[in-house]
Amino acid sequence: MRTVTILGATGSVGTSTLDLVERAPGEFRIKALTANCDVERLAAAAIRTRAERAVVADASCLPALRDALAGSGISCDGGPDAVVDAAAGADWTMAAIVGCAGLASVVAAIESGGTVVIANKEPLVSAGELILATAARSGARLLPADSEHNAIYQCFDFARPERVRRILLTGSGGPFRDWPLDRMADVTREQAIAHPNWSMGAKISVDSATMMNKGLELIEAARLFPVAHERIEIIVHRQSVIHSMVEYVDGSTLAQLGPSDMRVPIAHTLAWPDRLESPMAPLDLVAVGRLDFEAPDPVRFPALRLAREALEAGGARPAILNAANEVAVAAFLDRRIAFLEIAAIVADTLGSYDPDAPDSLADVLNVDIEARRIAEARIKAGRVTIGV
Ligand code: NDP
Repeated sequence: MRTVTILGATGSVGTSTLDLVERAPGEFRIKALTANCDVERLAAAAIRTRAERAVVADASCLPALRDALAGSGISCDGGPDAVVDAAAGADWTMAAIVGCAGLASVVAAIESGGTVVIANKEPLVSAGELILATAARSGARLLPADSEHNAIYQCFDFARPERVRRILLTGSGGPFRDWPLDRMADVTREQAIAHPNWSMGAKISVDSATMMNKGLELIEAARLFPVAHERIEIIVHRQSVIHSMVEYVDGSTLAQLGPSDMRVPIAHTLAWPDRLESPMAPLDLVAVGRLDFEAPDPVRFPALRLAREALEAGGARPAILNAANEVAVAAFLDRRIAFLEIAAIVADTLGSYDPDAPDSLADVLNVDIEARRIAEARIKAGRVTIGV
């Protein structure tokens, strides 16, 4: 029986992962489940799955977790270090914490070997080279859960990467793909988190609406696949049926298709290299009817350009981009800034901070902290330049 740990078990990806694991009784044993502070959901999942251990990152939530698990025999713990400790040692680990808060735990999981499934893209953006070096040292296998990267993984010929002409990274374009710029100025929190095709956590939903998610995915793809970043192109595909494509030098383009349900890519990583029976209704292409493709609009979605520039420049730029974006998205979700200010804050932060390239995880964390401080100060001062 394979041991499984789910970091971020109470979130959207964590819940989809649990759903698949629970449909295969006798195949997996849950070693650890973690959350930030959603004690009710964490304790219920731990009891249901007979997990060995449940951990909350926010230590102030530990007493409530202890009460909820009293008499269950499940050990519980609290605090960021406890999450890192729980991250190590499973055969299969899902990294599904949101944001760079997941960096230390994903590194701990990779250091301990086994299969580590990456949903949590932000650490890969900020510290990609260091994470890949850690995996190379430990022998851990990294599998992508992000539907686009999982699609590319299924189509990519790792034995002949030089035969790949382009990676075509598809994205739905988010809820505002047809909105004029002046209307986007008044976007509300509720409108931004209502994604047309996917049901996801709040942060990635806002990232999809600004298309920063596609920008982060561009950097993620450049980390995961051995192709030059100029060969990775973003295409808007509003139906979210094709999850990405790989084009080869002979003119063949391979695509992976599936329903817009994260359980499809997660099932692939759970069974890899095998396949498991999944609960989703098969894709009905006749009902889908048509597949549309268009180029993204760089004027209404400046996050795409910011992300590509950060990728090209390398060094600390991706970590600054990500940290400023996390701060700006949190401020938008708190209704402290307007929608169009998100990309503007990222651009302002990138424009005012240019540290040396980090060469350790501690360096990355220092860049992350300083970029957050600068972005937060801009928001507090109300000094944001729209029109990046
Ligand atoms: P959610 O917001 O739904 O869930 C986030 C999870 O992380 C929760 O379990 C939450 O716990 C936990 N968490 C939040 N803050 C912290 C913290 N400081 N320390 C430890 N744990 C924390 O996010 P999603 O599931 O939508 O996304 C998770 C990751 O996967 C993101 O990086 C996202 O970009 C990526 N992803 C998501 C997809 C999706 O369909 N949702 C698709 C592809 C990638 P609690 O519930 O207690 O707050």
